[in-house]
Amino acid sequence: MTPPKTVAVVGYKDSGKTRAVETLVTELTRRGHRVGTLKHTAENIDFDTPGKDTARHREAGAKAAAILHQNAAAIFIDDHVKVGDAVKALGDLDILVVEGFKTLDTHARLLVPRLDEDIEKLRNGLEIAAVKVPGSGFTGDTDLPVMQLGDAVRLADLVEEKAYPMLPGVNCHGCGYDDCRSLGQAILGGEAEARQCVRNSVEFTLRVNDEPVPLGGFVQRAFKGMLLGFLRSLKGGDSPRRVEIAFEVEDDE
Ligand code: SF4
Repeated sequence: MTPPKTVAVVGYKDSGKTRAVETLVTELTRRGHRVGTLKHTAENIDFDTPGKDTARHREAGAKAAAILHQNAAAIFIDDHVKVGDAVKALGDLDILVVEGFKTLDTHARLLVPRLDEDIEKLRNGLEIAAVKVPGSGFTGDTDLPVMQLGDAVRLADLVEEKAYPMLPGVNCHGCGYDDCRSLGQAILGGEAEARQCVRNSVEFTLRVNDEPVPLGGFVQRAFKGMLLGFLRSLKGGDSPRRVEIAFEVEDDE
């Protein structure tokens, strides 16, 4: 599954972030994209409705509860969930719009300032524009492109043009850049491509204990060639398109 292009809408509380997300999602969906959203909250809130069956299951001690309907589902997890795992759970998407997560530097971002001075505080080198919300104290005084909140067409055009798949954020140097943010800046500058991230590569991925292991191009090709050689000698393995191998290691192995 190809990771979706990702853009974050960042700003301080009550800056108009959610309105900007609504504007973008509406226009991108109208254009035929499969769009997902992801929001961060620092508030300690219970996401479930008290008294509902899943809430009662969790009150009884369940660490996680899920409710499935033919056309919808909700999962409640009383634990930390990594951003990458949450994105995978959202399914096959073209574009992911993230609200918040100011400290993440793995994707492009739109700034929604309340005041001119917010701009510098929100910058991390991956900003593609500032969004001017009616009634805010932001005057548009910045070197960034300034978009009006209601200009859905320009906002969506910019996201289609600039957003790139979320990078893993592990700063492994495998792409030849110092960290994920540097590769992101190079992508935005037109000097690199997201597929240079060796950890996001669908060419060949090795995971140990659910964590990707960085592999250079030569090692990826060697592993792949060796496994394909074995696989093609097996009944049912002669025309592979996507291959997954998983196994548990016992203590005495
Ligand atoms: S290879 Fe990927 S995970 Fe590693 S630093 Fe580059 S962008 Fe980040």
